[in-house]
Amino acid sequence: MSARIPMIVLLAAGIAACATNKITGRTQAMLVSDESAAQQSSQAYAQLIGEAAQKRLLDDDTYELNRIQSIAKPLIQQAVKLRPEVQNWRWEVHVLKSDEINAWCMAGGKMAVYTGLLQKIQPTDDELAAVLGHEISHALLSHQAEKLSRAQMQKAGLTAGVLAGAMFGVNLGNLASIADSVATLGLQLPNSREAESEADQVGIELAARAGFNPNAAVTLWEKMIRFGSGGTPDWLSTHPNPESRIAAMKARAQQLMPVYEAARQGGASAAPTSPAAAVQTRPLN
Ligand SMILES: [Zn+2]
Repeated sequence: MSARIPMIVLLAAGIAACATNKITGRTQAMLVSDESAAQQSSQAYAQLIGEAAQKRLLDDDTYELNRIQSIAKPLIQQAVKLRPEVQNWRWEVHVLKSDEINAWCMAGGKMAVYTGLLQKIQPTDDELAAVLGHEISHALLSHQAEKLSRAQMQKAGLTAGVLAGAMFGVNLGNLASIADSVATLGLQLPNSREAESEADQVGIELAARAGFNPNAAVTLWEKMIRFGSGGTPDWLSTHPNPESRIAAMKARAQQLMPVYEAARQGGASAAPTSPAAAVQTRPLN
């Protein structure tokens, strides 16, 4: 792309590429489509996972991997109910060895949880569901495609690598060689406060519908805050006022208690499936 695209062209493209999100009703800039973001993410993820395996940073702890996969499954089932086409995504989750307190879900359902989060936060199953529900919601609500679209409109002509240098650092740790790919750029760009609130609200709903205690979102974020800014760039960087965020989550969790209780009675279970049933690299749907 030329570095000298007239602003009027960009504006026209931006207007033409706006779409109303079916879940939130909010208008989003979608210059980069969800499909394109998912396709790029899939390539970047495969490369990242391959690299992690080579460096022995992948799925070290089979117990944690199985636990995370069994928590992710019912959340994904609920995500499909909110947005049926995500049934076709090749959902996948892995555990990456890194001290950072982090987790993410790329467009297209490619997820990672870092060992730093597991070891430092020591999340319960319900709290892990809150983490995964939040991250899955970013993908479900097309936030990565939206961020890439905004970056393209604002910084047209710059390469992904240059952009990455200017971004908040999500540290991909020892996996830095693909850190400037376009897809990982979508993770590195900060979410807007609006997008974070949406992911909080929808994430808590996914968890409650899947039979996980929605109040765990609150205890999780309280633990996160105790760790301060030493990590969690997704969760804390765009939220200078964590108290108001926690208050919003508390209110949402309270609303969803009947949904949670109905899900528990209906047989939705947070209990991990047999470890033998989980295969490390198998897509989750
Ligand atoms: Zn987030």
